[in-house]
Amino acid sequence: MKKRFTFKCWNCGKTYALLREITEAQELIVACPFCEKEAIVKLEPFKKKVISNLRGEGNDADEALGFEYEFPEELPTEERKKAE
Ligand SMILES: [Zn+2]
Repeated sequence: MKKRFTFKCWNCGKTYALLREITEAQELIVACPFCEKEAIVKLEPFKKKVISNLRGEGNDADEALGFEYEFPEELPTEERKKAE
């Protein structure tokens, strides 16, 4: 599933939109088109567990829907630390 996200650059403060595929990964790596700095976007804070859409059904299968994400309009980014 590819989705369009807006990122706010940690370095220059500009925002930019990119298509990114959402996977099980907890982080996205992006690069700012303005200052070309790489950035890490942490997805974990936006992950919401989907338990059930139906209330009071008593159906165990409803508890296995997995996860979905709720993203803000602008995703904050962090400086990508060089591996040592
Ligand atoms: Zn930038």
